[in-house]
Amino acid sequence: MPRHIVIIGAGILGSALAYRLQSAACQVTVLDAGAGSATDASFGWINASFYLSEDHFHFRHAGLAAYTDLAAQLTLPLRQLGCLNWEYTGAEFDAYEAGLQALGYPTERIDQERFSQLEPHIGTPPEQSLLFATEAVAEPSELRAALLAAAQSAGARVIRGVRVTDIENGVHTTAGFIAADEVVVAAGTGAPALLRGLDVSLPMLKRPAYIIETAPLPPMLAHVLAGPHGEVRQKPDGRMIAPTSVAHQADGRSELDQTAEEAAAATLARLQPMFPARDLAWTTATLAHRPVPGDGLPVIGRVAPNVYVTVMHSGLTLAAITANLAAAEILDGPSNTTSSMLAPFRPERFAGR
Ligand SMILES: Cc1cc2nc3c(=O)[nH]c(=O)nc-3n(C[C@H](O)[C@H](O)[C@H](O)COP(=O)(O)OP(=O)(O)OC[C@H]3O[C@@H](n4cnc5c(N)ncnc54)[C@H](O)[C@@H]3O)c2cc1C
Repeated sequence: MPRHIVIIGAGILGSALAYRLQSAACQVTVLDAGAGSATDASFGWINASFYLSEDHFHFRHAGLAAYTDLAAQLTLPLRQLGCLNWEYTGAEFDAYEAGLQALGYPTERIDQERFSQLEPHIGTPPEQSLLFATEAVAEPSELRAALLAAAQSAGARVIRGVRVTDIENGVHTTAGFIAADEVVVAAGTGAPALLRGLDVSLPMLKRPAYIIETAPLPPMLAHVLAGPHGEVRQKPDGRMIAPTSVAHQADGRSELDQTAEEAAAATLARLQPMFPARDLAWTTATLAHRPVPGDGLPVIGRVAPNVYVTVMHSGLTLAAITANLAAAEILDGPSNTTSSMLAPFRPERFAGR
């Protein structure tokens, strides 16, 4: 009999893990309450140019490579657009560049003329920016769906509309009990409530965010842009997508002080001067909650002999590498926590908090 693994959550983490574990001859069942997924609201930028520590950088950097491997196996909605970044100026710009180069990250300094060649539609090219050519974007809900479909093609089952209420030798749900040899909690902001029942503490930060999309526009943006205006990219359907907070990855606010309409209008006011040839109009604003553990870093590992957890912000960037490393530990059995790359991100650091 193959090991039966129940994964709670069909976001990007649950879907990537389902593909890895089902491909390794386990029987996977994915449960999702349909409570709302951070994945579907994500900006979809896969990068290591934002990081909180050296370990975090190396994990994120490995995340980019893991997607290259995954894309060689499956047809995925991923594009290696690269990012042009001018969030910093002066000495801060130099320090940011030097820090990334010291860590071995490929960066290239871009002057105003070269920027205009790379992005001819931008009306206000910065004097200098950094090109991170290896960075990529995903269309998040399509990537999640593609991974889940690949898992299902290999034999995984998906049960939707059912909420897990308790974990004990399997899962108790709003539609009855399902036995499992192993349970993986990939439930994003829903994880702490599930772990509480196991007496496991997982403090999370409250990190709400709006993200907006514009009406479709002709092709006019080739890279992810990250500058003083915030972050923006153009989707394959022509829509611009942008988080409404500037430097959204580091956004530390626990409350939003604007309505969705105010935040969308302010974001367009910042972006509009960059696109002088077109009037930008927003069509969708989404409020979502980022699953950010208490110290900002990922939480990955066992919390009980047969319960494994994966909760993190930047889950789009980290899903492929997390799935590779977590699946290896899960497949090796209850006592395995061997990945040195995961050592800084173990759930035990919150024990007793
Ligand atoms: C505005 C915004 C922009 C972002 N931009 C980026 C970016 O550019 N790059 C990047 O790398 N990351 C980004 N992120 C972060 C990224 O989206 C998340 O880290 C990632 O999507 C988390 O995925 P997940 O699978 O862990 O959780 P989710 O996608 O939230 O999925 C969890 C699932 O679990 C289900 N669930 C919860 N509780 C239960 C339960 N009790 N029973 C059954 N099901 C349950 C929910 O219904 C949900 O579908 C962004 C996030 C936001 C909000």
